[in-house]
Amino acid sequence: TRWVQKARHMVGVHSVGKIPLGIKRKGLRIVVTGGAGFVGSHLVDRLIARGDSVIVVDNFFTGRKENVMHHFGNPRFELIRHDVVEPLLLEVDQIYHLACPASPVHYKFNPTNVVGTLNMLGLAKRVGARFLLTSTSEVYGDPLEHPQKETYWGNVNPIGVRSCYDEGKRTAETLTMDYHRGASVEVRIARIFNTYGPRMCLDDGRVVSNFVAQALRKEPLTVYGDGKQTRSFQYVSDLVEGLMRLMEGEHVGPFNLGNPGEFTMLELAKVVQETIDPDAKIEYRPNTEDDPHKRKPDISKAKEQLGWEPKVDLRKGLPLMVSDFRQRIFGDHKEGAQ
Ligand code: NAD
Ligand code: UDP
Ligand code: UDP
Repeated sequence: TRWVQKARHMVGVHSVGKIPLGIKRKGLRIVVTGGAGFVGSHLVDRLIARGDSVIVVDNFFTGRKENVMHHFGNPRFELIRHDVVEPLLLEVDQIYHLACPASPVHYKFNPTNVVGTLNMLGLAKRVGARFLLTSTSEVYGDPLEHPQKETYWGNVNPIGVRSCYDEGKRTAETLTMDYHRGASVEVRIARIFNTYGPRMCLDDGRVVSNFVAQALRKEPLTVYGDGKQTRSFQYVSDLVEGLMRLMEGEHVGPFNLGNPGEFTMLELAKVVQETIDPDAKIEYRPNTEDDPHKRKPDISKAKEQLGWEPKVDLRKGLPLMVSDFRQRIFGDHKEGAQ
């Protein structure tokens, strides 16, 4: 609206996202939605370390205050408890939009991906901020092309149990491109492949966190189906580097951000056994509906246009999350810990 544009002009809000990497600049004002979550909190650490001012917006659906508590007291850090499904007024330069119930046990029936993304795009439009969407490899569904390139349109069931997540993210991508084309919002789209690391939600049912927690608790590792389905696992610091390069770079995307190292779930279980407990047992469980059979990113586009590639492979990254999980599971009770 006109009064908003006028107000914007008066307070001098403008996008400063075009400053090239490496050039010294004034700190940016950045919103990270979902910043109290796993990926978001690592991103916040990097942005704060770089000298930016960060506002985390999170409803603590799966995120935790503990993930960002070390920034409390820093005048460049703010934490707002807010559900992005509701409108939000802020004045910022960049928006990293991560808020999303990101695991099958949490994402069902939640409109965050559509309504939350619309609100954050509305915010980006109003203040002229650059907007980055964290989409997902799930937009490829159960892929008929392997490995997946960004040009692949995907094979997704629109009415299945996972649809709220993958169709939600596909809609979020559509909204993002519509605001880009229709309202000239500067946007970036990342398609993130399975990522793991410290601060991952302990009980959200994802495979790496499940296996690591199970091995530490001396419970059997639950392999769903025959365990021959594959995923490609990326360490969180590689992802954060990719997201920041994408935000600062000139390309809209979408970009696959993932580690092309592909493992079956049985191979993953083996790496967890080697890392934590060689005696850990495996227990087979029925698989969930519509589980993609394989997933592996083709990252040539990110390599070429963002100069990015992952550096931490699974055998190097897994031990880095084990100490964090051990601490969170056993706390100060040493008797269970190794
Ligand atoms: P996470 O669950 O740890 O973080 C998501 C955060 O969003 C949480 O802090 C949660 O409380 C918050 N949130 C959820 N709904 C919200 C709402 N309506 N309003 C405000 N905050 C809300 O998950 P993550 O792994 O850190 O995922 C971050 C983003 O990356 C998500 O968008 C996810 O879809 C995407 N992604 C992650 C992976 C992965 O393997 N970790 C893979 C693909 C895509
Ligand atoms: N919105 C928001 N913060 C803002 C600007 C907009 O949360 O600073 C929300 C707004 O409530 C609306 C959505 O973003 O639901 C889309 O806004 P837009 O201006 O694009 O659409 P309109 O309000 O014109 O339908
Ligand atoms: N999975 C498993 N055991 C578990 C949790 C998941 O074997 O305890 C399997 C799941 O069936 C899927 C793969 O691991 O084939 C990855 O699941 P996750 O939920 O971590 O990620 P996504 O399916 O979203 O890629």
